[in-house]
Amino acid sequence: MSLNALLTKRPILASNLIALKHIKRDKSKPVKYKPYSPFGHPKRWVEWTLVRLDDVINWGRKCSLWPMTFGLACCAVEMMHMAAPRYDMDRFGVVFRASPRQTDVIIVAGTVTNKMATCVRKVYDHMPEPKWVISMGSCANYGGYYHYSYSVLRGADRIIPVDIYVPGCPPTPEALLYGVLQLQKKVKRLRHFQMWYRK
Ligand code: SF4
Repeated sequence: MSLNALLTKRPILASNLIALKHIKRDKSKPVKYKPYSPFGHPKRWVEWTLVRLDDVINWGRKCSLWPMTFGLACCAVEMMHMAAPRYDMDRFGVVFRASPRQTDVIIVAGTVTNKMATCVRKVYDHMPEPKWVISMGSCANYGGYYHYSYSVLRGADRIIPVDIYVPGCPPTPEALLYGVLQLQKKVKRLRHFQMWYRK
């Protein structure tokens, strides 16, 4: 913006400010109640109940995200580190399970080769709904160092839907823990019953 334009704009801005200063709310009229959300109105008790139901279920899911014990390469060592006492992922309700049938999350920790891709997909298919995926490290995100290799998949999202990407080679355990916290935030905002009711 040129200096001239700035100078011509200046009085307009100042006059606007003066005009705003003189706008006062009429205190004799009651302020109209504006609910925080369309479902937050006390009269809509069905919607309100569904929201609270969603809240309770999401709270339960968020606090018990059980990942699959599944490491593919060097990133898996950092994943194990997150489970060790120093970072202690158990305090967030994140506990590794050895069977895909008991898990909610799969952490793709390492290089996914073409040969391994079918196994990753099979393990993912065995997990019950709802399920989430964390892609850990450059290799799982987009192939990483092996992007141009003939034998490596260029990203886990080519075979399974990824929710959270954790960057780095390898990502630190703190980064992975942060990714898990982001996933918890995502789970907290799920609106399963609300969407069912709207349909
Ligand atoms: S991102 Fe780095 S540390 Fe992780 S599997 Fe690939 S090469 Fe190994």
